[in-house]
Amino acid sequence: MVGARIPSATLAADDLLHDLDDAQRRAVTSPARPLAILAPAGSGKTRVLTRRIAWRVESGDADASHVLALTFTRKAAGELRDRLRALGLRHGVAAGTFHGVAFAQLRSRWADEGRPPPTLLTRKARVLGSVVTGTPLSVAQLAGEIEWAKARLVGPDGYAEAASGARRRTPAPAARIADLYRAYEEEKRRARMVDFDDLLRLCTHLLDTDPSFAAAQRWRFQHLFVDEFQDVNPLQLALLEAWRGTSYDLCVVGDPHQAIYGWNGADASFLEGFRRLHPSAEVIALEGNYRSTPQILGAASEVLRGAGVSDRSVRAARLDGPPVRLERHATDRDEAVAIARAIRDRRGPRAPWSAQAVLVRTHAQIGLVTEALRASGIPHRVRGGDTLLDRREVRDALDLLKRSRGPLAASLPDLEALAAEAPVGGGAPAPDGSGDAGHGDGGDDGAAATRANLELLVQLAQDHLRLDPGSTSVGFVSWLVATLQSEGVDHRRDAVTIATFHAAKGLEWPVVHLAGLEDGLVPISHARNHAQRAEEARLLYVAMTRAEDELRCTWAAQRTFGGKPSERRLTPWLTGLADRQRTRPSEPTGPPADWRARLAEQRAQLAAASSTPSPTLAALHAWRDESARAARVEPAALIDDRLLEMIAERRPTSHDELTAIPGMGRVLAARVGDGLLAALRHPVGDLS
Ligand code: ATP
Ligand code: MG
Repeated sequence: MVGARIPSATLAADDLLHDLDDAQRRAVTSPARPLAILAPAGSGKTRVLTRRIAWRVESGDADASHVLALTFTRKAAGELRDRLRALGLRHGVAAGTFHGVAFAQLRSRWADEGRPPPTLLTRKARVLGSVVTGTPLSVAQLAGEIEWAKARLVGPDGYAEAASGARRRTPAPAARIADLYRAYEEEKRRARMVDFDDLLRLCTHLLDTDPSFAAAQRWRFQHLFVDEFQDVNPLQLALLEAWRGTSYDLCVVGDPHQAIYGWNGADASFLEGFRRLHPSAEVIALEGNYRSTPQILGAASEVLRGAGVSDRSVRAARLDGPPVRLERHATDRDEAVAIARAIRDRRGPRAPWSAQAVLVRTHAQIGLVTEALRASGIPHRVRGGDTLLDRREVRDALDLLKRSRGPLAASLPDLEALAAEAPVGGGAPAPDGSGDAGHGDGGDDGAAATRANLELLVQLAQDHLRLDPGSTSVGFVSWLVATLQSEGVDHRRDAVTIATFHAAKGLEWPVVHLAGLEDGLVPISHARNHAQRAEEARLLYVAMTRAEDELRCTWAAQRTFGGKPSERRLTPWLTGLADRQRTRPSEPTGPPADWRARLAEQRAQLAAASSTPSPTLAALHAWRDESARAARVEPAALIDDRLLEMIAERRPTSHDELTAIPGMGRVLAARVGDGLLAALRHPVGDLS
């Protein structure tokens, strides 16, 4: 190797492949276009997607400024952006949501034409309020139907037929809903407004009908990548096809077993039948699971099988871990307290709070968990809390509180009345909450969610009053915004994550606590037909497969909704686990400290088995050893391992880029920067 100089692009491309398995490497380097990667949870789909982008850029096959990486929520797009940045793609890869990109393209078009843009209707309620007056429907019910129809490219005229074709349980006769849908569209047109779905439709229409607009957008984004493609709906697919034009430079990744937005119009058959859409496409499967222990994967597969969802075999790359635990508690309050205790037990010097998450099916369950964690002094953040703040009913309620200006205790009864009066929705039998953060920026999931969100607001207000009995309504609103948006404010703070199953998609934590695993919540009570129940089973599968080392499942025999206690049963999908735990109580459960040590060892073994150090990192180590020897200090005292890894990932090319790496600082950069940047420029020379 002495004297050998490998061009840096080749070397960097090599860095991008060295810790992938054979199938992953094939997926990253395949010349096929289009390409679909279909694989189970934790198999490295997002890793492959981001590596493929970086690999194509590094190997000169794609220009970073012409790449568009798409996903479905702002949070997921942010994470994709972070992962790409960590791979050193600092220049110009665009990552966004369908809505975000469409809106940007439309805005620039309107600006070019010198036309004032139409008003973006961020809350349908503003228009729907008058449309539903005098009808038995609530705003949220009608909004849910309209959004479902629009996601499926169905206008008012086609609504009745589409709803009956999909065997949709409509909250009023379909013809009546179609009339209201028509009135909504007319009112919007009259007021020159567009809603979120219109952005996608308008952008697709422009691309289809205006060749120069289409050519400009297709030139701007020539290489298209989509993560979580199982969640695409027909409206988004139409836009994607319009962006693609005649090019085949499209790569999608996804897992049909994680399709959880069917209620909102998404259709996983576009992923499963990708070859029907694109007969020339290559479809690559990934088979390993690098995230979860075999115990966790076994329990998650059992849920799919139990719900009649055909399962795929998956090779667990992780070593054995502790059995999945299932605990019954007398009440929901006991359950929350027990979770707080379990979280504290699992915290240790090498296990930060952020290694754990509590996941729940509905927003309404979050209040109890935050209360228990707060009482135990455990730092926590609610993921997607800012999405809750985007919900129209929540914003309306907060506006009301802000206007009242008095003590919160005095306004609480008004808030409680608002929650109690909110319709339960769609004939759902119990006010058990069913919300989630919605899908995309304008998501809405019906009246039951409205009720659950308002109940959550009441719980949070009660919670806040316990902490600060003299608080004002305005003080509560500021506190709430700060609490729910804590992720955005300081995402580096070490904290336990609390999230709904939906908001946890794509993420992972060493220890996951699943709470409220009861029939009525899992599956949610309003999931009646086979398709809805299958979607609920997939949702539980998504939640379970977020866990890396340890999965703890809990449920309560009694849960209180809106002040009324109700008896609960374990979810039918975990009865097998319950039976096994009963008949084999001697299965090792061990104190957490034992598990922690063993799992830390497993992690190290897996890392050693699956990755050799990257050439860039090896070069940085060689540089550090050499410099430390010269300075007569320990290598780690010069610059620690984590920082070195981050530098290898980001590959800065200037002092400014080096200083921008968290933990680097100007003083250290001034001291070691020149040598370090030289080592990055000529890694092979330094290695030899
Ligand atoms: P999901 O379906 O839940 O979105 P995914 O298929 O996108 O999962 P990733 O998030 O990309 O999976 O990867 C899961 C975990 O496995 C990550 O921590 C990732 O870094 C790790 N991983 C993936 N491939 C490998 C590999 N070849 N060697 C070691 N770890 C890997
Ligand atoms: Mg993923």
